Amino acid sequence: MSSPTVKLNSGHQMPLVGFGLWKVNNDTCADTVYNAIKSGYRLFDGACDYGNEKESGEGVARAIKEGIVKREELFIVSKLWNSFHDKERVKPIAKKQLQDWGVDYFDLYIVHFPIALKYVDPSVRYPPGWQNEGGKDVTTSKTSLADTWKAMEELVDEGLAKSIGISNYNGALVLDLLRYARILPATLQIEHHPYLTQEPLLDLVKANGINVTAYSSFGPQSFLELGMQHAKDTTLLFDNDVVKKIADKHGKTPAQVLLRWATQRGVAVIPKSNNQSRLAQNLDVCSFDLAADELKAISGLNKGLRFNDPLAYGISQPIFA
Ligand code: NAP
Ligand code: NAD
Repeated sequence: MSSPTVKLNSGHQMPLVGFGLWKVNNDTCADTVYNAIKSGYRLFDGACDYGNEKESGEGVARAIKEGIVKREELFIVSKLWNSFHDKERVKPIAKKQLQDWGVDYFDLYIVHFPIALKYVDPSVRYPPGWQNEGGKDVTTSKTSLADTWKAMEELVDEGLAKSIGISNYNGALVLDLLRYARILPATLQIEHHPYLTQEPLLDLVKANGINVTAYSSFGPQSFLELGMQHAKDTTLLFDNDVVKKIADKHGKTPAQVLLRWATQRGVAVIPKSNNQSRLAQNLDVCSFDLAADELKAISGLNKGLRFNDPLAYGISQPIFA
């Protein structure tokens, strides 16, 4: 099994289906990545904040050593954490992350959130997270997103990243970025599922040649394990009648239907699973097509419901306000 690819505005090809590394346990991460490569995954969506880049790199190294893949066949994504937005911090932290992965370039390096926090030295705390030492208060930095983007562009100039991208930006921030970018973001990564369909944002970035990647494609599911009340109070998309009926009709699982709904809208997906059989199932999502009325029925579930908001984690930064 393999994933189709899409051509990014940087000229590079990106798999449409990848593997998301958030909440992949440290003790099983190297094996999970290695097994995912064996199952056919080529794109890995990592981040400083996920705290498992070294382990992910171990899985990659093992697969390369055994001749299962070559580095150039993989598409490794990582993200710039909020506390490294100051211009002079971007290159050193990207280099540290490359070292953790054991590779010499990222295929895509993304600004994780449009918010700059005060620098934390990696020898003091890594990953630094949102809050200050002791888990209280958030301290911002004065760096603008335009200054951070200039430093991101230099990563491309120096060959440390083949493409650069953004995540969790809203329409206004994208419009602003389009004015100052020398190198356009290749992708925008956003929360996207049938309860949060985000059409105007998709239309805006697509019209400007930027590809969209969905995170949390299964909606509330990912946030149950974080104990989020908001997720517990919502009908799981896996249990939703509209999704279930369509899945039964196609002989697929609800998860596969949710991922196909996204990819048929031209949106790339990066589902995460700690389970080998679900991981295999999630890659097999481009071998069937949903009909136009089925796509429409799923999109009709939209209720503007967002889960991954810093406010929901008790962090006082209303970035989606
Ligand atoms: P997700 O992939 O939508 O959902 C993961 C959840 O779904 C887990 O509970 C997983 O459990 C379950 N699951 C996975 N495949 C399944 C299947 N086939 N059937 C039933 N359940 C299934 O959630 P996500 O991790 O939030 O989002 C995906 C990725 O997006 C992340 O890993 C990360 O790379 C990225 N992301 C980025 C941001 C950002 O700010 N840029 C934010 C969130 C996420 P098991 O593990 O037990 O299978
Ligand atoms: P997800 O929607 O991929 O859901 C994961 C959950 O679904 C897990 O609980 C998993 O057990 C379950 N699951 C997986 N496959 C399943 C299947 N086939 N059937 C039933 N359940 C299944 O959500 P996510 O983990 O939030 O997001 C995926 C990835 O997106 C992350 O790993 C990360 O890489 C990325 N992400 C990025 C950001 C960002 O800010 N850029 C934020 C969140 C996530």
